[in-house]
Amino acid sequence: MNLTGVHFLLTYRCDTECDHCFVWGSPFQKGVIKLKEILFLLNEIRKVEAVKEISLEGGEPFLYYPIMVKAAREAVKLGFSVEIVTNGYWACSVEDALEWLKPFAEIENISLSLSSDYFHGEKWITEEAENAVKAAKKLGIPIIILAVSNPNISEKCPNEVLGVPVDISELRFRGRAAEKLVKNVEKRNWTEFKECPYEDLADPVRVHIDPLGYVHVCQGICIGDAFQKSFSKIIKEYKPYSHPIVEALLKNGPFGLAQKYGVPHKEFYADACHFCYEIRCTLRKLLPEVSEFLAPDQVYGEGLS
Ligand code: SF4
Repeated sequence: MNLTGVHFLLTYRCDTECDHCFVWGSPFQKGVIKLKEILFLLNEIRKVEAVKEISLEGGEPFLYYPIMVKAAREAVKLGFSVEIVTNGYWACSVEDALEWLKPFAEIENISLSLSSDYFHGEKWITEEAENAVKAAKKLGIPIIILAVSNPNISEKCPNEVLGVPVDISELRFRGRAAEKLVKNVEKRNWTEFKECPYEDLADPVRVHIDPLGYVHVCQGICIGDAFQKSFSKIIKEYKPYSHPIVEALLKNGPFGLAQKYGVPHKEFYADACHFCYEIRCTLRKLLPEVSEFLAPDQVYGEGLS
């Protein structure tokens, strides 16, 4: 297996509710991976030798600040490099951002990825992102900006800000985006979506683990429960062509998944993820026996008040 990275969805809770969020991050989401569980999981992950990178993300991981800092320290102690993904809500001024980031200056092999774009604010680079960049640079912490394209914004996203690269990625219509952002987007016929364009589901380079222990190959497509079975075993025993969801996606993309289970669907979709996500939502209702592979409720926007 090519697996080199594990992303901890430390929590689904977030201070905000961005329209494009894959995992329905929200102040109304509950739960966090507890410290004891993080330490257990890190030791399990270490058994998969090729894994070198741990990412701490969410939701918003800074909402569980001391746990996030301790998790980063422990991961680095175990020999991993660590990336923290945040929306930077905490960087109200450069001075404040310095206080938030100081503990990371003492940790080697750590970097920050800061989400900033028109989904997170009213310009490509938010005030908070600028403050965080200035503080991180002062402290010598590597930082990049992650931006997501926005079909309603014609202004070009900058390639860098204050010497820090801005990595812009395409908007994908899954999770909350599949509900909130598809309305005025050009759609294509469902028969065109015969492959997953974004994830290597047969041989993933990274997987996600969430607060319930679910191991995801794409958010909401699960291959095991890392609290019930050892992570290394889940990875070793992963057979993509026997997995009831992945098998169909590998053979014929979202089109194949709809065909395999005879899922009722629309004619037109914004992209492959839009079609894939909607079929999975329907499948969860139609076929409870596959629901353990399409979990948890949080990623499907269920149970939010
Ligand atoms: S097509 Fe499906 S499996 Fe592939 S990235 Fe999109 S949502 Fe994930």
